[in-house]
Amino acid sequence: MNNIPEIFGKLVFNETVMKERLPREIYKALKKTIREGASLDRHVADIIAAAMKDWAIEKGATHYTHWFQPMTGVTAEKHDSFITPASGGNVVMEFSGKELIKGEPDASSFPSGGLRATFEARGYTAWDPTSYVFIKDGTLCIPTAFCSYGGESLDKKTPLLRSIEAVSKQAVRILKLFGKTDVTRVVPTVGPEQEYFLIDKEVFENRKDLIYCGRTLFGAPAPKGQELEDHYFGKLKPRVSAYMKELDEELWKLGILAKTKHNEAAPAQHELAPIFTTVNIATDHNQLTMEMMKVVAERHGMVCLLHEKPFEGVNGSGKHNNWSLTTNTGENLFEPGKSPHDNAQFLVFLCAVMSAVHKHQDLLRISAASAGNDHRLGGHEAPPAIISMFLGEELAGVLESIKADSDYEASGKQTMKVGVNALPVFPKDSTDRNRTSPFAFTGNKFEFRMLGSSASIACSNIMLNTMVADELKAFADELEGKNDFLGAVHALVKRIITEHDAIIFDGNGYSEDWVKEAKRRGLLNLESTVDALPYYIRPENLELFKRHGVYNETEMHARYEILLDEYSKLVNIEALTMVDMVKKDYSPAITDIQKALCDAIIAKRAVSEDVPCNTEKKSLERIAKAADEITEVNTALDNALKNVPTGDALETAVYYRREIVSKMTKLRSLVDSVEAEGDRGYWPVPSYGDLIFSIK
Ligand code: ADP
Ligand code: MG
Repeated sequence: MNNIPEIFGKLVFNETVMKERLPREIYKALKKTIREGASLDRHVADIIAAAMKDWAIEKGATHYTHWFQPMTGVTAEKHDSFITPASGGNVVMEFSGKELIKGEPDASSFPSGGLRATFEARGYTAWDPTSYVFIKDGTLCIPTAFCSYGGESLDKKTPLLRSIEAVSKQAVRILKLFGKTDVTRVVPTVGPEQEYFLIDKEVFENRKDLIYCGRTLFGAPAPKGQELEDHYFGKLKPRVSAYMKELDEELWKLGILAKTKHNEAAPAQHELAPIFTTVNIATDHNQLTMEMMKVVAERHGMVCLLHEKPFEGVNGSGKHNNWSLTTNTGENLFEPGKSPHDNAQFLVFLCAVMSAVHKHQDLLRISAASAGNDHRLGGHEAPPAIISMFLGEELAGVLESIKADSDYEASGKQTMKVGVNALPVFPKDSTDRNRTSPFAFTGNKFEFRMLGSSASIACSNIMLNTMVADELKAFADELEGKNDFLGAVHALVKRIITEHDAIIFDGNGYSEDWVKEAKRRGLLNLESTVDALPYYIRPENLELFKRHGVYNETEMHARYEILLDEYSKLVNIEALTMVDMVKKDYSPAITDIQKALCDAIIAKRAVSEDVPCNTEKKSLERIAKAADEITEVNTALDNALKNVPTGDALETAVYYRREIVSKMTKLRSLVDSVEAEGDRGYWPVPSYGDLIFSIK
């Protein structure tokens, strides 16, 4: 193992490198841009670009790319080499400020929800200096935003940056009221915990469903799953351990704070958690982490599956988005603090989150909605599709006391008065945390647990930042200019708790009772992506994002179309894969199984009428019946795929959800029933057991 502090950030043009390599004035100008978003003049940009190029070449880079995050959910890059022709048939290595700041990829094939049709087919990329430039695979990667020529965002970074500005602006207003005049900026911090599966490359390659869809579309359960809980936090197998070590190293070189690694609940499932950082960087880093997970797995003869539900019957993979707000003076705004004054400030921010989550359940739900995550939400370990908030017994008790003007035990049986009484010290012990809550307060941050493992964290943080900004704005409007400030804070906190405590739920989020109780409380239960997405373009939501300059109406409609379209396309690919596998793999194998049974019966009959052959006959009957049903459902699915309504994106998605997904479920259960019954020697693909126990 290399010396970690030495390799850490080795491939990043970070603060230290900037200081070393840039003239003082240039460094100061760049810092100002990073801090305040001031624009860089061409001369300064040229010097920075040249320094970046020299540094990159020393590290073996030959190309540069504007690295961006289109609406596909993965990152995109188009590499250009540094070469420029020079006299005598030679080349020199060049990189200009212009090339650093703006790129014009011919990126017309990325989803744009029709945004570019009316303007120009091309979009442009613009350098985001708040996220460091880095080297990956011999290429200098420049994190960029991706926009249309009309200025509409076509990516996930632009709205994220806008949402950071929005929440910062409103939080600063509130902090001013608490006398924190030195705070000029508030930045969301995020630590995303990432789950994934590792399987052997050889078994992977024999599964068309994994190759095309990243998840198994068929597969009878293995006799052993996760019931013994022997995998969770278990000892790492040598191959997995070697993989994790190399992954850590690769991530450290990229300046990613990979911290925790362990086995997860399902066999072959693992988790990696970084130390939190500012949300923009955390988002870039999470994309890079997912990419490196796949790259490093290949090197170890394995495949990393990031799908939300690669295997039925065992846990799926999620991503926990730990989110907080931190000031430029280093204060975490969700740290309850010790004095009554700090407590009051904490309660204001807590209330902002509480009312935001209650009012905008739809947006949080949408940020976790995808065809893949539809298989996970409501399943085994995953949060249900209902959004609720867990605060822990102590904090919930405090809020109850404020709401009811009643005595609060832990504060010496006093009525809690905001800004007067001190809050008790809340235990941060993770053991009593409610693991079934989709949105939990965990001592000094919130953990949003609904996200699917393959999702970009941009979307959920855009939602969180914007909806909390909106509450803080309303609070600041109310509190500014009040004479009895703490009295006004108490009234506000009390009112918010009273109006929004329906969102607080500390019980078992996976129980049937909760579904009924949530309904009674008027909480949303948007079961699938198709149920959730129409909420995106509700007039209130269009207004919300417009008010904070995060999205305009056109951008939101475009995103809505893209999300629906993505859902339909994914289901379509899965359905086509199923039809194909049934026709070319399963049906021929099932015929072979039946033939073998027939042969056995004929052979026995040839010996004597008296040799019993009930085993073969019964099995043949069951399999023959299933075989006919399989053909029937497969044909129905095939036909349904030929009759997809086109035109309205929602209508198409609803059709996929109603007509296609139901047939897929039926088809799977029939094929799985034959797998469970028949001779494994004939089965054309690796079984669940082969897959989830493929790493020895
Ligand atoms: P777990 O949820 O598994 O018990 P931890 O509570 O240790 O794990 O932390 C989970 C993640 O939360 C880590 O990535 C950690 O860096 C992150 N985290 C801790 N504090 C903050 C914060 N103030 N803002 C954002 N993320 C944070
Ligand atoms: Mg966690």
